[in-house]
Amino acid sequence: MSEAYCLKCRMMVEIQNPEMVILRNMAPALTGLCPISGTKVFRFVRRRLDPVYALVLAIERGDELIALPAPEERIQVEDKLVCYGHLESIADSILQF
Ligand SMILES: [Zn+2]
Repeated sequence: MSEAYCLKCRMMVEIQNPEMVILRNMAPALTGLCPISGTKVFRFVRRRLDPVYALVLAIERGDELIALPAPEERIQVEDKLVCYGHLESIADSILQF
C-alpha cells in the first residue's frame, strides 16, 4: 500500500512497519524498512495531516507519551502520532503522493 524507493535494491518496495514522522521542515514523511534488504527507506507524503480526518489521540515523543494533547501542543521533529479516524480518510490525507 505504501511504497518507497530502496536505494540498495534500486527499486520500489513495500515499506515494512511504516511510521509517520515529521521532518525538520514540518513535512510529514513515512519511514520503515525495506522487506528485501532491511535498509531504512523513506518517502515524503504530500499533504499535512488534515484535522478533519485525523484526530490526534496521543503524541509519542521519545520515552514520553502525551495523551490527548492540548490544541496548543506543537508537533516536533520525530514525534509519532497516534491518530483516530477512518483509515481510508487518514490514508487519503497523508499517503497521497
Ligand atoms: Zn532494499
